[in-house]
Amino acid sequence: MSIAALNDRIGMVNDVLNSWALLYWDSRTMMPPGGNDTRAKQVSTMKVLAHGLLVADETRRLLDAAETEVANRPAEDADRRIVAQTREAVQHHLKIPADLIRRRAQHASEAAAVWVKARTDSDFSLFAPYLEKTVGMARELADAIGYTGHPYDALMYQFEPGETVTSLRSLFAELRAGIGPVVKATTAVEAPRSDFLERHYEPEKQAAFAKQIAAKLGYDFDRGRLDGTVHPFEISFTRNDVRITTRYYPNFLPASLFGTMHEAGHGLYEQGIDPAYTRTTLATDLVGLYAVGGVSFGAHESQSRLWENHIGRSRRFWDLHYGMLQETFPEALGDVDVAAFHRAINRVRPGYIRVEADELTYDFHIMLRVDIETRLVDGTLKVKDLPEAWNAVIKQELGLDVPNDRLGCLQDIHWSSGQIGTFCNYTIGNVMAAQVLETARAEDPSIQASVDAGNYAPLKDWLTNNIYVHGRRFGRDELLQRITGRTLDPKPYVKYLRDKYTALYGVSV
Ligand code: ZN
Repeated sequence: MSIAALNDRIGMVNDVLNSWALLYWDSRTMMPPGGNDTRAKQVSTMKVLAHGLLVADETRRLLDAAETEVANRPAEDADRRIVAQTREAVQHHLKIPADLIRRRAQHASEAAAVWVKARTDSDFSLFAPYLEKTVGMARELADAIGYTGHPYDALMYQFEPGETVTSLRSLFAELRAGIGPVVKATTAVEAPRSDFLERHYEPEKQAAFAKQIAAKLGYDFDRGRLDGTVHPFEISFTRNDVRITTRYYPNFLPASLFGTMHEAGHGLYEQGIDPAYTRTTLATDLVGLYAVGGVSFGAHESQSRLWENHIGRSRRFWDLHYGMLQETFPEALGDVDVAAFHRAINRVRPGYIRVEADELTYDFHIMLRVDIETRLVDGTLKVKDLPEAWNAVIKQELGLDVPNDRLGCLQDIHWSSGQIGTFCNYTIGNVMAAQVLETARAEDPSIQASVDAGNYAPLKDWLTNNIYVHGRRFGRDELLQRITGRTLDPKPYVKYLRDKYTALYGVSV
């Protein structure tokens, strides 16, 4: 069986990537600071090993044999998909010159150090020459990967295969037209109070509550755990061990609460992948070299957003569970009723900072970044003109005057580490979440009835059967076609935001 031999080989790549993941998880949760330098070398070695195993002659020989074996199978056949995706990944890696990989890694560490200083001093001119070089290397990378439309398409291929600048521009135009008026209408009226979210919340009690909520959503603690960290993330070492993290601020409750639901959503995806795909190409991102089973970054984000926002920030969810939260924090929430709590956790307040943005204004931060990256890569925007371009969009779309570059174009870590092409997945996730949920509700009305009764299992089961179980077998748009009958469609998302926020704020648009 040639396919079995290929699977054994990819299983080794997967093992190495999972070892990378475990070293990484440890560095972000348990490792003492002294481990920093040697750990950086260990994780980098793991990636080099995985890459070497994947592109080795032996892998290609096994791939050739497996290709012959599955040649006459139907296009959707899982083994045939394994072979095609492995071939695509091997070819992708062979296209990128080793010298470019080395130069990018070297530049990333230099640029990251300068970015920290530039951000502290709020001085873009310090960082500009480094960003210039980052953009130049991104263009080199795009040329190596290859593209037919825009060079940015090649960069997105690594995170959101199939996505293009053309399709994103029309998606963004629809989102701006649909959400913009809702932002204007809600910010024109007085914002609800939310001061009580900043009272004292004992971190140990937050942790206990977070665990209960994650379990309620269906996250399986026999194959997972929840730990504290600085910047929350989900990471898996196969579907059998899927870990999530959150952060506990003693004076700000929403961070742990919604961080947990968000990461639990990612976790449900990974825990739900078909056991038969474990250690295979269908549960490994061989292009990005991550042991991730979800099909794209955007598809993954759709599940975190679905559980965090559509379920976790809904009024019904808190009608059911607010009593438990009040009992946990009687001093902080004793005088706050569920309606006030629900309004506070959905408060709209345009701000400068993406990671602090509310649900309604979040996509404007993403669209801004994607537009700017696209124009930097195709040369229609010069790096030196970046702050001006940034500030103009924030003024136009959110009505804010950016006071300095620290609160403007220097805020994200992505460009400092050389990453260009990843931002779109957040907005794609938002759009896909609403589209998928609309279909689930229409297909089986008892799903929403169960959610309204506090039983999330039927929704989780539907998502598992329609999305999670497939791992990476189907592409994102192929998956959407199968589930909803169409590719990415922003209408359900725009409708969801309009309905929710016009009702909450008592405004009409
Ligand atoms: Zn996420």
